[in-house]
Amino acid sequence: MARNIGPQCRLCRQEEVKLYLKGDRCKSDKCPITKRRGKPGEGLRARNKKASDYSVQLREKQKLKRLYGMLETQFRIFFTRAQRLKGVTGENLIVMLERRLDNMVYRMHFAPSRKAARQLVLHGHIRVNGRKVGIPSYLVREGDEVDVQEKAKKIVSIKDSLKEYSRSGVSPWLEVDPDRLWGKVRAVPRRADIPDLADVNEQLIVELYSK
Ligand code: SF4
Repeated sequence: MARNIGPQCRLCRQEEVKLYLKGDRCKSDKCPITKRRGKPGEGLRARNKKASDYSVQLREKQKLKRLYGMLETQFRIFFTRAQRLKGVTGENLIVMLERRLDNMVYRMHFAPSRKAARQLVLHGHIRVNGRKVGIPSYLVREGDEVDVQEKAKKIVSIKDSLKEYSRSGVSPWLEVDPDRLWGKVRAVPRRADIPDLADVNEQLIVELYSK
């Protein structure tokens, strides 16, 4: 599967926001966005005062796409599916992205980043409702149970990543048992409930794709 394989921090610097692409490093003082003076996004907002509508919309789309580690074709497919659903397209898009299996594995702290979560899924280490699922874009539903395959339970990086569970817990729509390496989707989140996306204006993405 094609992926972004360039330097991850460069993507954050380009968008001028933290995209949390490198696990623990992103939450430490080593993150170049944290180290930089000024608040994340200040430079971009200053530039946006002069930027064209198109360039502002494009940057917003790139930001969301990179946050979830997706390439253009697949992101566009998600957008088209979101358009077909009832409700507000931008919100549908974000909720669908959030329901991706690799994202859920990341949110449950079985992996330190979405990229690492994708690897766990691709390597067949993740089950949904007791069945192995090797598709990172698989969409989980309310009530689904996600766990780590028995043979993968000794993987050190999973145990290390779960330390974050004791530090910050999980989102309210999820439930995790760190001892069993098991989690449950208690509910599909609403757009307003999704953390770390407060700065994303999905309406700009809808406008971009509607041209
Ligand atoms: Fe690098 Fe993570 Fe900071 Fe982004 S958030 S700049 S990936 S350390």
